[in-house]
Amino acid sequence: MTRPPGKLLPLVAALLCGAVLAQAAEPADHSITAAAPAVKASAHAPLSIPVTQQPVRAAPRKQRQQRPPHRRASTTAVADDWNLTKHGKVLYLTFDDGPQQEWTPKVLRVLAKHRAKATFFVLGREAAAHPDLVALTRAAGHRIGNHTWDHPVLTKLAPAELRREISTGVRSKCFRPPFRDTNAHVEAVAAAYHQRQVLWDIDTKDWSRPGTAKVEQAILQGARPGAIILMHDGGGNRAETVSALDSALTELSRQGYTYRALPC
Ligand SMILES: [Zn+2]
Repeated sequence: MTRPPGKLLPLVAALLCGAVLAQAAEPADHSITAAAPAVKASAHAPLSIPVTQQPVRAAPRKQRQQRPPHRRASTTAVADDWNLTKHGKVLYLTFDDGPQQEWTPKVLRVLAKHRAKATFFVLGREAAAHPDLVALTRAAGHRIGNHTWDHPVLTKLAPAELRREISTGVRSKCFRPPFRDTNAHVEAVAAAYHQRQVLWDIDTKDWSRPGTAKVEQAILQGARPGAIILMHDGGGNRAETVSALDSALTELSRQGYTYRALPC
């Protein structure tokens, strides 16, 4: 299944990045496990946790405006983990929409070949169907992020549905909205479940299957220290992604890049 990318205007995207920044001041990592609802990938039952009772704190508008529209500028202790540029020539590879029986193992093999760690934003329904693949991914040292249960357009959902989609996804410190479709409310709901919204810097558009060369080119041209790169291991035939990933990592490793998982 191919999915069109979000149609947010660049300005809106920039503002959302600012909102991500504001999110950095949200709950400390150590509180996540203790306070997050005990939701497992296989549990799709709606939770009855009112968002209004959760410790969501919106950053003052003035504070948001003072921050550059990029998550890296945050200075809180939690956000220090998210100071993605501090490690030098490091890239953050991310894969959405899996796990998928055929393509996830192939992506994992390419990552292992290049000694790369990555982050997989999985769908709850797919993780529930393939818990072995999630375990395999974790065991290889990668991190798992929440990409909702069923990949809906979140901003169109009623509040209860929105909460259910986010809360029944896999348990993680990170959340990525499908189609990059998000707003302050979506982000606040994710924060209520102690999940940080994570977007990306480089969209390879691999979901549209533009050809291996174009996917590789997008990775190589966008690569810069600390960049988050979006690819997909689910949602359709990912042969181009696997092939482009292999060749791009060969070149980027030659340039001195290494690859880390996000602190999800
Ligand atoms: Zn997706």
